[in-house]
Amino acid sequence: MTEDKIVLPGEQVSTSEELLPGDGTFEEDGIIRAAIVGKYVVDEKHRKAVVEPLTSVPVLLKKGDIVLAQVGSVRSNMVIADVIHVIGKKRAISGDTNGTLRVSEISNGYVKDPSTEYSASDIIRAKVTQVKPSIQLATKDKDLGVIKALCRKCRHPLYSKGDMLECNNCGNKERRRTAIDYGTYDLNKL
Ligand SMILES: [Zn+2]
Repeated sequence: MTEDKIVLPGEQVSTSEELLPGDGTFEEDGIIRAAIVGKYVVDEKHRKAVVEPLTSVPVLLKKGDIVLAQVGSVRSNMVIADVIHVIGKKRAISGDTNGTLRVSEISNGYVKDPSTEYSASDIIRAKVTQVKPSIQLATKDKDLGVIKALCRKCRHPLYSKGDMLECNNCGNKERRRTAIDYGTYDLNKL
């Protein structure tokens, strides 16, 4: 992986054969992954993979912001997602980041069960519809929804194929409420 690239949580940046896991990363089965949204750099002196926060001056969420959020849990009538980045703001978020996406706010069409649309660890692009007393999210517009998802079986990235997402590693096919640019978004324009 090239350096100075913007990465998302869970994204592979290196391997434990090449480097040690440094700040902003974690190691899992010999793979070093980003733990935060940030810029991937190599600490050559200590041979460490490091993900630096985009900047240290934090930003407060506001209504109407378009954000990236990582799905934590999918319940019967809502999705809980952690807001990890505000699009267009190269800054960390301060304060509460625990967002709720109600089943009725997922899509313009009727959704009965959120688990047919989203899965834990998915990265979604969402609109903030409320900040207080709790952060509420919506993904009804076509540029909103999942921008990155991992295979439920083997955790490899899923690729868009027709109406479905497919795993190149194990062949598993999965459905998601994807954003229109799934797989082609540019993280360096975050
Ligand atoms: Zn798979």
